[in-house]
Amino acid sequence: MKTQKLLLLIFFLNTTYLIFSQPYKNPNINIEKRINDLLSRMTLKEKIGQMQQYNFWKLDDATLKKVTEGKVGSFLNASNKKDKIKLQKAAIEKSRLGIPLIFGRDVIHGYKTILPIPLGEAATWNPELVKKGAEIAAQEATENNINWTFAPMIDIARDPRWGRIAESCGEDPFLAGTIGAAMIKGFQGNNLNDNSTIAACAKHYVGYGAAEGGRDYNTTLIPERELRNVYLKTFQTAVNSGVATLMSAFNDLNGVPASGNKFTLKKILRNEWNFNGFVVSDWEAISEMIKHGFAKDGNEAAFKAVDAGVNMEMVSENYANYLEKLINSHKVNGRWIDTLVAGILRIKFKLGLFDTPINSKPVSEFLPAQNKQIAKSIATESIVMLQNKNNTLPLKVSEINSLAVIGPLANSPKAQMGTWTLDGNPKDVITPLNAIKSEYGKKLKIYYSKAMESPRSTNKKLFKKAIQTAKKSDAVLLFLGEDEELSGETHCRAFLNLPGAQENLIIKLSKLNKPLILIIMAGRPLTFGNITNKVNSILYAWHPGTMGGEAISDIIFGKTSPSGKLPVTFPRTVGQIPLYYNHKNTGRPPSPNQLGRVLGTPVNPKGYASYYLDVDYTPAYYFGYGESYSSFNYSDLTLSKKIIDFNDTLKVSVIVKNTGKYKAKETIQLYIRDLYASVTRPVKELKRFKKAEFIPGETKTIHFKLTVDDFKFYDINMKYNAEPGDFVLFVGSSANDKDLLKSNFTLTKY
Ligand code: BGC
Repeated sequence: MKTQKLLLLIFFLNTTYLIFSQPYKNPNINIEKRINDLLSRMTLKEKIGQMQQYNFWKLDDATLKKVTEGKVGSFLNASNKKDKIKLQKAAIEKSRLGIPLIFGRDVIHGYKTILPIPLGEAATWNPELVKKGAEIAAQEATENNINWTFAPMIDIARDPRWGRIAESCGEDPFLAGTIGAAMIKGFQGNNLNDNSTIAACAKHYVGYGAAEGGRDYNTTLIPERELRNVYLKTFQTAVNSGVATLMSAFNDLNGVPASGNKFTLKKILRNEWNFNGFVVSDWEAISEMIKHGFAKDGNEAAFKAVDAGVNMEMVSENYANYLEKLINSHKVNGRWIDTLVAGILRIKFKLGLFDTPINSKPVSEFLPAQNKQIAKSIATESIVMLQNKNNTLPLKVSEINSLAVIGPLANSPKAQMGTWTLDGNPKDVITPLNAIKSEYGKKLKIYYSKAMESPRSTNKKLFKKAIQTAKKSDAVLLFLGEDEELSGETHCRAFLNLPGAQENLIIKLSKLNKPLILIIMAGRPLTFGNITNKVNSILYAWHPGTMGGEAISDIIFGKTSPSGKLPVTFPRTVGQIPLYYNHKNTGRPPSPNQLGRVLGTPVNPKGYASYYLDVDYTPAYYFGYGESYSSFNYSDLTLSKKIIDFNDTLKVSVIVKNTGKYKAKETIQLYIRDLYASVTRPVKELKRFKKAEFIPGETKTIHFKLTVDDFKFYDINMKYNAEPGDFVLFVGSSANDKDLLKSNFTLTKY
């Protein structure tokens, strides 16, 4: 007993001594002081070590040695918990200063409980729900000692050919910024120090989504005004929401690769926005500056990245190899290095990595029921109904006896999870086939036929069986679209049609004259105008994740009305791309009498306006579009004033009534148009939205408030200002003029 007490006393004295002699170890003092104390003790080599992130391949002596020598600041992709604990112990207990590692991972849309792809999450137009999704992802990831996710991706994506549109929150800076901010708040919580929160990483800074031709990693050319008004907007929102880190992108932006871009990384991010977290480069993006032709060699690449303000290098080792020399020869200022290292340490301190003992609790075996419920709600709200002829949906169990479930995506767990699901287990996935069978299997005869070996298959040998299956059924559910490998990083497409023999299958099945319901799972907008008249209903389900099957089943059978709205414009054909709702008007805007030329190329154009000879200039489906089982009437758009000045708040209200028979959610959207300015402005810009639930017959007055900040943009002098003048204000259910009520107001200076 006595010895035990003595040992305890020694431990206590030792800890107290350490805390007082090494203030950075004292959790009770201010983080900035801890950073300064630690920096003052670090050698240059140790500082550079903090700036290096390695991919974790395997736990071997060489890796542990690097950690012990203080040559690693972070690992990505260490998936095994035991490995992470060993690495962290080596850093804390064996390295000279005991600086902890930060473990990063791509927790993009859920960790084990897979949520819909981010584009689907954005289609919910429900930031509160999206936030909950990020919370459960963080909670599951922290169980496995992950400190940091490389999400959200808030690149504006206006090109569905680009495979990474799946990971994006869509084409609009306001919607993508709001959804991205919700994800950040969900991941990071109120305090990074909590046990179940992780640091977020807004990526890819910046412009990556504007790759020419929709081909991944391709060059981007974005004029500064467009960059600031559109592409930087979401990142500014992220910084204002307290995002801990950013990732610098791969792309060449206006001739300067994003990972060596002083203008975006230093002038804008640090000097204008005062960001004080840290920037990690994308995977080997610093080395790639040599291939871009922006750096002669690794030495110059390291210089340009560090000079621009990239704090941490992912995977490549230019910092490790060249920084010491660059600093010793005074090419790089030592104080600047301290600033960059401080950014990394700040997040490590905030995460509590210096203070919390290593979490060695076992990882839960099963997905928590509550997490599955949240994933299901997000999936349900992400589904967009694009068509519902003769109210074919919802199906009523009392009106049918049998149901055909057909298609390569009806029972395809992996495809259903979508891109970037490193930790999701297909075994946890509830597919539509299983969900429908388990809920309705006793009430209905359910026949299943895969029809195609895979979504990409061109072989029609299974069609016959599928047709027989359909023939004996009262209604047909057809699950088509893309498998998970057709979207995501590097997975770009030049043709956006339904892959393989899918269209052919639709045509064959449509000849049976049965109610035909098409459910498309995909990582991007596809073009399927050829077959819309062959099917009754179309549900766009994206890749809906673990609980997607139940969500789809609930929609099909009317337990929930669809409420998803498109976060991107759907083109009719690839030739229209880029096509986005917030475009400029041009000097010769097209008008509806220039529509309708879809059969071949006529010789006499109908007037000299901005349209196509061979396809409508309008999209297949507008941004913000999505149908419901119910119907909504918008009326009484009211503005508190017709003339407002810069100090006024414009109050807007609209009356929305559920005129249909179903309880349903509707997203009320508010757009503005600045009619003339020192530079041209988009024909519409989303400024507010509200998702609300209505019971049948219910009327709600929806209120919005706008202030002068909502009318600001980068003007002719590249100043962020609002300009006096006339505006149009629209409120309604999509970005299509016919779905909007309109009013006008004038902004005056005084
Ligand atoms: C991607 C990033 C990702 C990183 C780490 C890169 O290839 O562009 O988005 O976070 O890999 O996995």
